[in-house]
Amino acid sequence: MRTTNSIAVVSTILVLFFCACIKLPDSNKSAFILTSPSFENQLGADGYREVLSEAKINRDPRLNEILQRVGNGIAAQTSQTGFDWQFTLIESKEQNAWCMPGGKVAVYTGILPAMQNEAGMAAVLGHEVAHAILRHSGQRITQSMVLDLGMSVAELSLGNSKQKNTLLGLMGAGATVGIMLPYSRSHETDADLVGLKYMAKAGYDPRAAVSFWQRFQQSSAGAPPEFLSTHPASSTRIRNLEAHLPEALQLYDAAAKKFGNGVKL
Ligand SMILES: [Zn+2]
Repeated sequence: MRTTNSIAVVSTILVLFFCACIKLPDSNKSAFILTSPSFENQLGADGYREVLSEAKINRDPRLNEILQRVGNGIAAQTSQTGFDWQFTLIESKEQNAWCMPGGKVAVYTGILPAMQNEAGMAAVLGHEVAHAILRHSGQRITQSMVLDLGMSVAELSLGNSKQKNTLLGLMGAGATVGIMLPYSRSHETDADLVGLKYMAKAGYDPRAAVSFWQRFQQSSAGAPPEFLSTHPASSTRIRNLEAHLPEALQLYDAAAKKFGNGVKL
């Protein structure tokens, strides 16, 4: 009887796995995701509203113009057409940036010095946008459900205050609510490499991603932001990016419009 039950459970998991194994856009990867894109996007929109309602928004016209130009330039390189992109600059000392499901992006003013110029911003936004395109939040929520952290799809909502911070953490805004739920190392690497392509196609010199990480490594002695939270050790990260530079430089050469490093921040 026990064996029959075990077989039933394993079969159910296998069926679920194959039903829910999804080919991800802009990469050759597949992933096991139990949440639907529309559900994730709704969570992202709700979470974004929630965070922004408590944040101090920076409305400097020059910086915001740059953020919109870089952000929309990166978004235009993705194959995702169903996102309602938003880019907000948040006044904070934290060196942080994130993108919630559905294209809801935040950049904190504390990271601007490390970005240094538009291309540095493109490197960070490329990485964050890639997390959203590759549905890393959906994958993490799925992992939490499988690990039985008390969540099922039917129950997930930001309205449940017990789950709220966990969900925001799973969507990348962990530092904001004090719960760091780091992306896995492989998610970080995938976001780095897909993001590198986005920035190059958007017309920003991909070598700027390497310079950004070198500067960031020196300036990030404090609390780690989302994208350093699982450290592919910075040297490994930089080596990986450098290994993919030749391909990225070809995309950059073929870009319709070139900004190089763009303007200084
Ligand atoms: Zn990241």
